[in-house]
Amino acid sequence: MSVFELHRTANPTPEAKRAELVADPVFGKVFTDHMAVADYTEGRGWHDLRIVATDDFRLHPAAAVLHYGQEIFEGLKAYRHDDGSVWLFRPEKNAARFVASAERLEMAPFDPGQFLASVTELVALEEAWVPRPDGEKSLYLRPFEIANEPYLGVREAKNYIYGLIATPVGAYYPAPVKLWVTPNFTRAAPGGTGTAKCGGNYAASLAAANEAAAHGCGQVLYLDGAEHKWLEECGTMNFMMLTSDGEMVTPALGSILPGVTRDSLLKLAADHGLKPVERHISIDELRAGLADGKIVETFACGTAAVITPIVGFASPEHGEQVVGDGEPGVKTKELRQHLLDIQYGRAEDKQGWMHRVV
Ligand SMILES: *Cc1c(COP(=O)(O)O)cnc(C)c1O
Repeated sequence: MSVFELHRTANPTPEAKRAELVADPVFGKVFTDHMAVADYTEGRGWHDLRIVATDDFRLHPAAAVLHYGQEIFEGLKAYRHDDGSVWLFRPEKNAARFVASAERLEMAPFDPGQFLASVTELVALEEAWVPRPDGEKSLYLRPFEIANEPYLGVREAKNYIYGLIATPVGAYYPAPVKLWVTPNFTRAAPGGTGTAKCGGNYAASLAAANEAAAHGCGQVLYLDGAEHKWLEECGTMNFMMLTSDGEMVTPALGSILPGVTRDSLLKLAADHGLKPVERHISIDELRAGLADGKIVETFACGTAAVITPIVGFASPEHGEQVVGDGEPGVKTKELRQHLLDIQYGRAEDKQGWMHRVV
């Protein structure tokens, strides 16, 4: 029995066209024929769970999301294995985080069971949109929730829409980046929304991202909002460093986003002779460690790129510092390959992280 009622599109993408789009995907611009949707009404709860043709939403111009930003989202992927089967990676973590994000923004939490049903039922229906695994291709899934009550008062809304759309992701080449330690912007403050996956955090990060780009850096490294001293994360990815005595050190949870990739790598650390450590890391410790060789590798991690090697840091006060010899680290590459091999079914899934859909 499906949880989401299926209303098939009258205009599916012709098979030849779809095959072309899936063979050479355009991330985030081309979407599958169907999406999952549900409505929430105060007093009634979530209702009308359905899979329908991907199409525009109708929103009243006073819809709360357009004014006060009650919006949250998730990001996960469906992976095709060499035998043709299709799998999800730890989707229950995304379902739980979606509830936590909703609670932080006083939005109606979407039931984790219904979240998992939306993802599995849409992926099963759109199976033909899941690319072959070569070049790290996958089908990216974007669950989200918005407040659609038409009301301009400042309070939590009484109506919400849950949506799930899917876009094929093409071959990925993990380019090493330099991080810009921004002196001007912070991402989160104690008690703020740093732990929630909400669109507002991303809107606030664009200025810092452009500042980084203007200084030749691919990503931002944010310091904490209170003392501007402790490493936080990169704004779309968590931060990790490897030490010469075999530790995998990452900033402790608090105001950073609790990444699924971060958690998974901490659990794989031991397989690579590394000891996982979650604690505060000061920018002074990072600078000194890079200078004296205590810090040997650094990388950022998240669902989209898995691991992006970080080969340098730049800031206006301290100039540029290179990590090791300026090339992606050996363990960084090993960890990345290990996680990809689990996701694509080429390495043993000891933790039971993979969920088969097709
Ligand atoms: C999504 C996200 C991450 C990475 O989380 P994953 O679950 O590993 O994809 C890191 N930081 C921020 C701000 C994010 O939104």
